[in-house]
Amino acid sequence: MKRRSLLASLPAAGAGLLASGRANASAKTPNFGMGEKIQITDVKAVLTAPERIRLVVVKVETNDPGLYGWGCATFTQRPLTVKTAVDEYLRPFLKGKDPSAIEDIWQSCYVSSYWRNGPVLNNAISGVDMALWDILGKRAGLPVYQLLGGKCRFAADLYAHAAGRDPVEVEDNVRKWMERGYRHVRAQVSTPGYDGGYGAGAGKDAERMKENLPPGTRVFEPKPYVHSAIALFEHLRDKLGYEIELLHDMHERVTPAQALFLAKELEKFQLFFLEDPLPPEEVDFFRHIRAQSSIPIAMGELFNNPHEWTGLISERLIDFIRVHLSQIGGLTPGRKLAAFAEAFGVKTAWHGPGDNSPIGHAANVALDLNAYNFGIQEQHQFNDAAQEVFSGCLKIENGYAYANEAPGWGIDVDEEKAKKFPYPESPSFDQSWGNTRHRDGSVIRP
Ligand SMILES: [Mg+2]
Repeated sequence: MKRRSLLASLPAAGAGLLASGRANASAKTPNFGMGEKIQITDVKAVLTAPERIRLVVVKVETNDPGLYGWGCATFTQRPLTVKTAVDEYLRPFLKGKDPSAIEDIWQSCYVSSYWRNGPVLNNAISGVDMALWDILGKRAGLPVYQLLGGKCRFAADLYAHAAGRDPVEVEDNVRKWMERGYRHVRAQVSTPGYDGGYGAGAGKDAERMKENLPPGTRVFEPKPYVHSAIALFEHLRDKLGYEIELLHDMHERVTPAQALFLAKELEKFQLFFLEDPLPPEEVDFFRHIRAQSSIPIAMGELFNNPHEWTGLISERLIDFIRVHLSQIGGLTPGRKLAAFAEAFGVKTAWHGPGDNSPIGHAANVALDLNAYNFGIQEQHQFNDAAQEVFSGCLKIENGYAYANEAPGWGIDVDEEKAKKFPYPESPSFDQSWGNTRHRDGSVIRP
């Protein structure tokens, strides 16, 4: 209480260090985060699934009683590997370090495994990184967006998801969001005859394709999908007009030529963006899409590190970068990416589904409020169980997300309540990856 009231009056940047009275001593004797009075005493991963989606959050504790932080390390498809990386490797590496040395901790964690740049280890670093920003905010008495330079908008504009088995059902679901004040809606439709498409349920008569395929297989063919997507947007623009912003996620899955064809065909429907037309393995084809279509392109939820986005952004081949902050290593690389993209006129659209904890969503919104080149934010509305575990979730109103104004992320995790929601035995969320195949049995790259 005393710490917070004292620090609330200080300017944002570096307030924690200045307030601790150690700024001058640190300048004379750089110690790279070791030997400070406030030290990290423990780091641990906490697993919980209040929405049956496996979340991983990281708690960083300090020797200052009551001072700790929370970060999101969620990689829902391989969560136990992240827990191992946090508990077995980062915990001993970080004990005794100064939690305000966020940049040094990020850089040293990054090389601490020598092999680097990928999923699992980046998720683990993200959990630590976001927790350190939470601690810094609590020490300064400020929400994290203030540490970044404050707000340049009052809230983050959100997009909601609407899906359906046919265009009329999708239209009804888009209208429901419009009635709730949303200005941006992502639209996905089932493909008749197939159940392996993304973002909508099985199409009519999907079972007949599966004669020779293993049980549990979902079937997808790109050409029928491409034509069902064109029919969807013809219908939606005819019925809804052009004021509502519509988005669409291809989720890869098609050939580069089909992606180009769909980008050209959808251009006239003036989408807000077309998401993930190509997998990361095919990014060189973006040049051809760019040259032949004005449709705005969003890309990047599978990206792990700057090698994957630097060229796309600096050559201005995409319009929106939409990485998963927990996947790239947290807020620290996220704020650098936002600033880098701003220089090239590329906007942000951080990945924001349910496999991102409430802390991950708070980190998204901190950057959304601060970054001038914010584009749009994908929303997830947490259910009552999740809000019971995570107190202080973002407030969503009229299609906007508002930051929690409490210090740090403003979110606390009730560890006892988290235990009430153990991981489900067979989570339904991620079973389609690796089990979605073409009609001939070859696997689809999702
Ligand atoms: Mg996506």
